[in-house]
Amino acid sequence: MSGSEKRSNLTRRGLLKATGATVGAAALIGGGVLRALGPDEGAFAEEPEDQTKCRVGCCWTCVYCQYEAHVRDGKIVKLSPIEGGSPRGSRMCLRGRSRMRAVYNPNRILYPMKRAGERGEGNWERISWDEAISTIASKWKSYREEFGPRSIAYYWGSGNCAALGSGNFGGLLGRLANVLEMTMVDYCTDMALGYGMARVAGDGMFRNGASLIGNADKVVMWGCNFVDAWWQHWWPLADAMEKGSTRLIVVDPNYSTTASKANMWVSNRPGSDPALLLGIMNYIVENDLHNKEFLLNHSNASFLIRQDTKKILRASDLGILSKEKGDSSVENVSEILDSPIVWDEQSQTTVAYDAAVSPALSGERLVHGIPVKTAFDMLCDELGKYSLERTSELTEVSVDDIRKLAIEESEGEIWNIAGYASQAYDNGAEFGQALATLAILTGTVGRAGSCVGGSWYSFNTNPAFMAPTGTFVNTVPVLSMTDIMDSGQYAGEDYPIKSLFVAAANPMSSGGSSNEILEWWNKIDFIVVSDLQYSDSVKYADIVLPCAHALEVEDVLKGSYYPYVGITEKAVESPAEAKSDSDIARLISVEMGVGEYFEKTDEEYLRELVDESELGLERGITLDRLRVEKDICYDETDIKFYGGVFPTETGRANIYCETVVPRIDWGQELDPDFGHVPTFSLPNEAWPRGEVAKKYPFTLMSHRLRTRWHTGEFENEWMREIAPEPIVKINPSDAIARSIEDNSYVELFNERGHAVVRAIYADDIRPGVLIYPKGWQQCEFKEGGFSEMTSAHCNPFTVNTSFMDVAADIRPWGQGE
Ligand code: SF4
Repeated sequence: MSGSEKRSNLTRRGLLKATGATVGAAALIGGGVLRALGPDEGAFAEEPEDQTKCRVGCCWTCVYCQYEAHVRDGKIVKLSPIEGGSPRGSRMCLRGRSRMRAVYNPNRILYPMKRAGERGEGNWERISWDEAISTIASKWKSYREEFGPRSIAYYWGSGNCAALGSGNFGGLLGRLANVLEMTMVDYCTDMALGYGMARVAGDGMFRNGASLIGNADKVVMWGCNFVDAWWQHWWPLADAMEKGSTRLIVVDPNYSTTASKANMWVSNRPGSDPALLLGIMNYIVENDLHNKEFLLNHSNASFLIRQDTKKILRASDLGILSKEKGDSSVENVSEILDSPIVWDEQSQTTVAYDAAVSPALSGERLVHGIPVKTAFDMLCDELGKYSLERTSELTEVSVDDIRKLAIEESEGEIWNIAGYASQAYDNGAEFGQALATLAILTGTVGRAGSCVGGSWYSFNTNPAFMAPTGTFVNTVPVLSMTDIMDSGQYAGEDYPIKSLFVAAANPMSSGGSSNEILEWWNKIDFIVVSDLQYSDSVKYADIVLPCAHALEVEDVLKGSYYPYVGITEKAVESPAEAKSDSDIARLISVEMGVGEYFEKTDEEYLRELVDESELGLERGITLDRLRVEKDICYDETDIKFYGGVFPTETGRANIYCETVVPRIDWGQELDPDFGHVPTFSLPNEAWPRGEVAKKYPFTLMSHRLRTRWHTGEFENEWMREIAPEPIVKINPSDAIARSIEDNSYVELFNERGHAVVRAIYADDIRPGVLIYPKGWQQCEFKEGGFSEMTSAHCNPFTVNTSFMDVAADIRPWGQGE
């Protein structure tokens, strides 16, 4: 049985009819119509008597829109925006509208199966659930007995991030991994931005709730394409732009759809974003445009930094004992233990940072024989390397445009919004750190009109639910798996991994360098994958479990662009023998002898997850309320870091990061002087130089399609009608120089792999860049696949996959060796 040979003959007309869409096909495909995919009248037509509707939503890591499922005779006949226009679900995109196609995919996995033949051949034999579970349990028991609990690894992705799903919340499969003390594999994806920003803010910096965006005078978007990728995010901004209250500036190497709506578009060299930010900050400081009041009161800019150790000068360095809380007998020492010290201009002496009347922003001196300078000066030392001219040389942005950007960044209320593209290089954390530092330098954070960051709201569920035995499993980064499989060791401890369980994830396609992944997969004795469809990862499994679609279970979603929690109701029954993640966890738990931790019903677990979560307890959010209200916005005017207060030791932002710890620490070699202030390191490959530039002169970038979300539900024939096969976009000047014709098949290649796809001429792509859409599976390529060419190399601090940090070349298909 092959996963994707058969294709449905449903037409685009079928899509438009079924979704009630009234927009023209050209508008659906093209990128130039501002509201092409907006809400439509037909969606709210009166429901036929035999049709019911319920509230559902997208559970993958997009923006968690809610919408309505219309059900007739036990089948979903339509998905439509929420009647009444809830801001949380009135603008679903094509992917959401057509999502039920995955439920009715003719190639859907419906039964448990075991491999028949070699891994990768795609031959399967149907088995019963009893056989599947008893096989898994007997293998796992023997591995545990011989090699210990860490011998079983669990890889979870973002395919289903609802509370009971196995994605971000963890769900019952996460609970199972904890109870069995398995090895948790960190998927190392899209982590650099939050990690870099946390160096400054003490926590990942996230932007304000979307309803506030009209308070910004301007939005500066970095490597982010709202219109195509995050449709729901785009609308509040589009509304604000239409009202004329907000302008948009886009920084993106390529002329994206979002760039086409912008008041200003800046095309920079891929991987140069940190350098551009440093150049902007340098101009701001050199021209005295920085916000001194904010720096002094809301950051550690005035803290004195020891030049011998690069640590903050503290009270203990001056022989001052820390003041006990409430002790008024000691002056000039804060109640923070071992207080940071500043130079007070008024008293002309060193004092605790919060006791200074007039702290100095700049200055270099000897204190008790220790050479010190302010954190602000440390930052300026680095910024000073990025003159307009040098920044222009590095970024390929004109001096004029850098100056304009710097002036824009220093005036008015600003939302600096980051997508995931700018952080998808080895210097991704440097981008996050620099962007956050810019906001501190200009004081544009902590107000309705000013914020900085990505777009994620977390809803931390009850930790006791995830680890009822009190044990949180050990985490290893997927990027270390090659070494772990070779050595059986991680961080100096034994990790003799013999089995891998994959749920809500497709690492073979979504990870870095699929050929490398395949190498370490092939060293694992026994692989189990739970999925809906024949993904690239399923191909290499030994046992496949058919999981339920999110539209087939009741669950709870978090918001990402608004602070809300919403319900996603069970719209229909699962077909054939597909089972929910929760039921799969229950079945395995009983066979593994830990069934007592999985005895409650889904409803009881949802109550535990929601009612007893921090947010639930604080804001009175319960499952019962969600069932009635469907979605609850828990903070209509959510302002991140309100008033400039940050979750750090001092409550201030760190423009100087005293201790730079890696995102995941396994004792890797690290430069102790790196990362105290934002800096710029060259990308690994996306800056072709030397021999690499001769062999692979192009930077291979990726972007998100309107018709696909990662590889989730790639078996969506309606979306495949609009985007039928993978392509690569190339600037015509590059194509002509290589005798590549428009719409012809080409081979992309580098030392890790290749992909054969159609080349499409595109003037909106920078010369020297190739850009491909994400989310395709091996079976959709003529040969190879994009995931073969991505890299598993990573920055040792960030431990994140650098998806855009890829060098490649291109030639007409058939001209290779
Ligand atoms: S795919 Fe994303 S933007 Fe589209 S409906 Fe789902 S959550 Fe919303």
